[in-house]
Amino acid sequence: MAYRYNHILIRYGELSLKGKNRNNFIKALYDNVRKALKAFPTLEFEKQHDRMYIYLHDEDSKQVSEILAKVFGISSFSLAIKVEPDLDQIIDACYESLDLTTPKTFKVAARRSDKLFPYISDEINRKVATKILKNSDWKVDVHNPDVKIVVEVHQDAAYIMTDRVQGAGGYPVGVGGKAMVLLSGGIDSPVACYLMMKRGVHIECIHYASPPYTSQNAQEKVMELARLVSGYQGDVLVHVVPFTDLQLAIYQNADESYAITLMRRMMMRIATGLAQKRHAQAIATGESIGQVASQTLESMLAINDVTNMPIIRPVVCMDKVEIIDLSKKIGTYETSILPYEDCCTIFTPKNPVTKPRVDKCEKYEGKWDFDKMVQDCIDNTEDIWVHPVKVEEDLF
Ligand code: ATP
Ligand code: MG
Repeated sequence: MAYRYNHILIRYGELSLKGKNRNNFIKALYDNVRKALKAFPTLEFEKQHDRMYIYLHDEDSKQVSEILAKVFGISSFSLAIKVEPDLDQIIDACYESLDLTTPKTFKVAARRSDKLFPYISDEINRKVATKILKNSDWKVDVHNPDVKIVVEVHQDAAYIMTDRVQGAGGYPVGVGGKAMVLLSGGIDSPVACYLMMKRGVHIECIHYASPPYTSQNAQEKVMELARLVSGYQGDVLVHVVPFTDLQLAIYQNADESYAITLMRRMMMRIATGLAQKRHAQAIATGESIGQVASQTLESMLAINDVTNMPIIRPVVCMDKVEIIDLSKKIGTYETSILPYEDCCTIFTPKNPVTKPRVDKCEKYEGKWDFDKMVQDCIDNTEDIWVHPVKVEEDLF
């Protein structure tokens, strides 16, 4: 009988979780893994208290692994051969899983969770090693082996594995509630999306568009960024807010230096309305202290003043270089640096106030009925679903 890698063994992250939390975590992870892999219909899934298993059948293990690597809550996973908990089968499967044509060093690391299995770990190690040593030029090196063969013997099955693939870490998306992330076309906000999802928070995105001052291309770039981060969650709902009228009103009624602050306050009012509508518990942005003149603590104070919702700023204390590194790692950087006009860049005042005062904001806002315009923005928002794989439309 020929043995091949027919399973994937998944190890859970953040193992400190206990009790009910842990059960919720495992259930959410199980659901998220199944959802992420729904394009592979013959996969079979099994969850246990400390592991999850996927039976691959004939699906491509490389494609499945690529998708799994983006699922939060997984600390690592390995391709595995599943056999009966029987010593001969274990020895044969280990032996046949190796490409023995070039000489290498190896080590066998067996573990049995079934203490009734008639051989202790050390015996399993030695028996497997003996077969390999007898039939190849391979040598044992217990300290720094080229290949580590891991054997796990459970009551109902044994698994043979070699490489361990690093998982995405974090918590399964959804266990931490829901947040609305303000997504622009820059470098920072897609990274903020990623960090929120990594903490287990399901995200929806809000983008403020100011046509005709901002172009369709600019909006498409934002949708592409949403698509790139959606792989970590399965899909993302993007709310595109028609922001032009409100923005023009700000410029008519306020001193230019306060425009950015007032714009942010309006963004937060709209985001709060949308969050309530969508049952989200927080708002998140890509702001970072000191990055631009308008991102100061005083500015954050003035922005936070218009909402009771927590505003989470995942990159608030990161250096730009650190944010860029992360955006490269998650694959959004190349898209983020494409030229694009944001509603902020178009209306950017020459001297934005760095220490805005709330009373001054309120004085300007008192000049017109912005509440109605905010409500219009919320009511006329367009909702667009975004998926990790571009779906070819118009096929039929
Ligand atoms: P980013 O790289 O995310 O664009 P930035 O450094 O360019 O950030 P700003 O343009 O000052 O900073 O925006 C700060 C934050 O405000 C953004 O990270 C984003 O969360 C939000 N934001 C700005 N413009 C928009 C927009 N048009 N739509 C949605 N959110 C926006
Ligand atoms: Mg920006």
